[in-house]
Amino acid sequence: MSELPKTALVTGGSRGIGRACALRLAREGYLVYITYVSRPELAEQTCTEISAEGGLARAFALDIGDREAVNSFFQNEIKDKVFLQVLVNNAGLTWDGLLVRMKPEQWDQVININLSGSFNCLQQAAKLMMRNRSGRIINISSVTAQSGNAGQANYTAAKAGLIGLTRTAAQELAPRNITVNAVAPGFIDTDMTAGLSEELKERFLQMIPLQRFGTPEDVAGCVAFLASEGAGYITGQVLGVNGGMHM
Ligand code: NAP
Repeated sequence: MSELPKTALVTGGSRGIGRACALRLAREGYLVYITYVSRPELAEQTCTEISAEGGLARAFALDIGDREAVNSFFQNEIKDKVFLQVLVNNAGLTWDGLLVRMKPEQWDQVININLSGSFNCLQQAAKLMMRNRSGRIINISSVTAQSGNAGQANYTAAKAGLIGLTRTAAQELAPRNITVNAVAPGFIDTDMTAGLSEELKERFLQMIPLQRFGTPEDVAGCVAFLASEGAGYITGQVLGVNGGMHM
């Protein structure tokens, strides 16, 4: 076993689901690396909260859509410095609009961050984990990847692509003892959903059998399970964290 610190990398760990995953994985004993793109103060706050609980964390500015930046980050900050055991491909964004009116940049940006950005990190992590002959990769998809969602052609295509990527990576990496799974959250109460109208939120709520929106901690619990020893024989799966909602 490596002498380097056992590390979990959570992209987009400054807020929302990524922040909850970072806190949870730190409690499980990982050194946690988080990335952010626009909110350094929130990323630092996540690290401070982890330290206050006795954990260890560091924050890095990294646009996951920038392939060169991702490659240098892995080369300079991860390779030979830490033992990368877990990657949580969480960073993501939405830019909604009906497909007939969708601008090329609206399509490109959402695909580039949610799908290509996750691929960029997965590819680099896989190279290191293959050398280590162990690892856990967890991709955050969405319930809408399977159902579709009017106004989100770009986002649903990216999140569905992430499921295909998960299944293929699971097959390619299994011989090296690396598992790859996706988590598909339903409606989770974060900044991403905060801007939706009350009417739309009420409509979603009526579709959720557990009769409440999910919390970032609900998703983090599933991520921690997939990273745990108990999930060692689970790979290529998509786990819904959706309160029973199937849109
Ligand atoms: P959020 O609160 O909006 O947080 C998004 C996170 O991603 C932030 O940490 C943000 O960093 C980071 N980020 C955005 N663009 C980035 C980039 N180019 N490079 C690196 N980091 C970037 O979102 P959330 O609700 O927690 O969602 C987290 C994941 O869950 C996303 O993949 C989302 O699609 C998925 N999801 C969410 C829901 C939901 O209901 N909330 C449902 C299904 C799936 P900064 O803080 O620096 O901007």
